[in-house]
Amino acid sequence: MMAARTYLDWNATAPLRPEARTAMLAALDLQGNPSSVHAEGRAARAVVEDARERVAALVGAAPADVVFTSGATEANVTVLSGGWSTILVADIEHESVLHPAKASRARIIEIPVDATGSIDAGAIADEILCSSEPLGRALLTLQMANNETGAIQPVAAVAAFARAHGIATHTDAVQACGRLVVDVGALGIDYLSLSAHKLGGPKGVGALILRAGAALPNLLLGGGQERRRRAGTENVAGIAGFGAAAECAARELAHVDRQRALRDRLECEIVRQTPDAVIIGARSERLRNTSCIALAGKTAETLLIKLDLAGIAVSSGSACSSGKVGASHVLRAMGIAPDLARAAIRISLGATTTDDDIARFLAAWTTITRTAAKAA
Ligand code: PMP
Repeated sequence: MMAARTYLDWNATAPLRPEARTAMLAALDLQGNPSSVHAEGRAARAVVEDARERVAALVGAAPADVVFTSGATEANVTVLSGGWSTILVADIEHESVLHPAKASRARIIEIPVDATGSIDAGAIADEILCSSEPLGRALLTLQMANNETGAIQPVAAVAAFARAHGIATHTDAVQACGRLVVDVGALGIDYLSLSAHKLGGPKGVGALILRAGAALPNLLLGGGQERRRRAGTENVAGIAGFGAAAECAARELAHVDRQRALRDRLECEIVRQTPDAVIIGARSERLRNTSCIALAGKTAETLLIKLDLAGIAVSSGSACSSGKVGASHVLRAMGIAPDLARAAIRISLGATTTDDDIARFLAAWTTITRTAAKAA
């Protein structure tokens, strides 16, 4: 049996909630295809539509504006591949935004990022107002919160400015949802991406939320599912789990302050024990569950392995790029020195993180950093 583990990698994925598991197991026993008109089909359809209502409620959307996808990657790629003439994007975005943007034929306008990981809203305004070429069909994409540093961006203000200049807007709300109030109406955004597994739902399912009437490029062509907006038989069990997780996440929003207290204690103790430790993005408005910490002279991979051996799961850079040695593109965009960036680990907490988890992390940190200091 695996020894007790301390899981502090919630930004990579959250543990499956029992409510999501129960909903998925029940849905796996449904025989019907949600597109079939017989009773079996209607039963599967009811599960999908019930989940759609719960996901819509989490972000203040109308159920008809929720398009289920295979995850946030698909939602991001669908929007970014929309044949835009111009895309305004910052280098701190997730690869599933950056990659399709850069692979597209659009003219890319880079949004500057400062050393705290915050974007420069004034620079966006200058780019829009002073562009030497017409922007044409333009999209501005700006994440709500960063997966590595937790930095929160002023999406509503930036979207209002962009909208006033005829620019469509998208936000990747994957890391914000369930941690901040996310309301599509208040954000005034055209497209918003979500992922179930960051909320305690299953992996491999997500959603794209549309402003009513927003045009959607059809990435997956074929059947008429999702009101002809995304072809393919729905992942009924995955969607059922997503719906259950969304409902729990909405209820828990009131309790995320508890995570801030744990995170702050963790950071305080780390800096006390190892005064050289740098908390990256500490001066930005940050998610309450995320800490990106670098200890100059160390490499993140070594720390990660030592912590793993001590029973603790954290990550270096974004989990999607773990396994690949090299500084994260997010930290590079913030202008963090390469040596420090290579030392950065991300610790991310969640709803079931306890005082004991933090104590176990700190005990392991003490042992690892003292041993390393003695060996040096
Ligand atoms: N955007 C962000 C900010 C993420 O953190 C992730 C997951 N690492 C994604 C998009 C991709 O989500 P999914 O795993 O559902 O494809």
